[in-house]
Amino acid sequence: MPVSKPPLTLYLAAPRGFCAGVDRAIKIVEIALEKWGPPVYVRHEIVHNKYVVDGLRAKGAVFVEELDACPDDRPVIFSAHGVPKAVPAEAARREMIYVDATCPLVSKVHIEAARHYENGLQMVMIGHAGHPETLGTMGQLPDGEVILVETVEDVTHIEPRDPGKLAFITQTTLSVDDTAGIVAALQSRFPAIVGPHKEDICYATTNRQAAVKAMAPRADAMLVIGAPNSSNSKRLVEVGRSAGCQYAQLVQRASDIDWRALEGIGSIGITAGASAPEDLVNEVIEAFRDRFDVTVEQVETAVENVEFKVPRVLRVPA
Ligand code: SF4
Repeated sequence: MPVSKPPLTLYLAAPRGFCAGVDRAIKIVEIALEKWGPPVYVRHEIVHNKYVVDGLRAKGAVFVEELDACPDDRPVIFSAHGVPKAVPAEAARREMIYVDATCPLVSKVHIEAARHYENGLQMVMIGHAGHPETLGTMGQLPDGEVILVETVEDVTHIEPRDPGKLAFITQTTLSVDDTAGIVAALQSRFPAIVGPHKEDICYATTNRQAAVKAMAPRADAMLVIGAPNSSNSKRLVEVGRSAGCQYAQLVQRASDIDWRALEGIGSIGITAGASAPEDLVNEVIEAFRDRFDVTVEQVETAVENVEFKVPRVLRVPA
């Protein structure tokens, strides 16, 4: 007699997984490999996902942390998170072929920061210290021009040059709710502070968090497929917990799932960070099907149709 599997409702968040910026960055590396042949160098993980990085490495991409590790005569690609201005300047000085895979929504924040700087405003950046996007955005302006704040508490300690001449920008992958609290603290302490016309937190981050908020209260447990260094994936775990799902965990793939912790559940919520491919979502769903009698229900809060073109240099033949 076959043993019957316990029933499980599997809520699948939509949107989830790849955003337009990640999709474009991966295409840039793939097209560069076709156009120039391997090896093509990539400064920093093109997107924060080991599975994606390993796949590109197998095709001939070489991942390095700094430009110093790249030879002058091979193309180099800058990651989706953006780079300090000094990096493309150095590549140009060395007469290297370089392609910037910075997401256009990160570039938009760079342009905003430069515009405020030209208008004589000092910048406050809301972001995570050490994250490549924060380093890249802060590196658009001279040292000391951008003050980083990570928490509401940080806002009470900063000492800008002139409190009447300030503007703020944010990392694109922050928690929408936490950021609103930090912005409110900035506006209360510095009433003249200038903000972005429209949110710096990108559509993909906002939509993935909204879908988790709708899904998490219904699910006994929740898994976010994503990398431990992926900011937007980590935020999805936090959003899930604060939306009422006690057990919300980050997993890179099915082999990371702690099945003991999931014993006795009747429902599970699944989502994926913006740099996690759908293959890994399917792998996780299959792992649940092996153990449970699964009914999939999609929790859809938005439909996305954003697409970014690859840079012109990759749209013309070599
Ligand atoms: S998460 Fe947002 S900002 Fe980052 S690559 Fe994706 S679309 Fe661009």
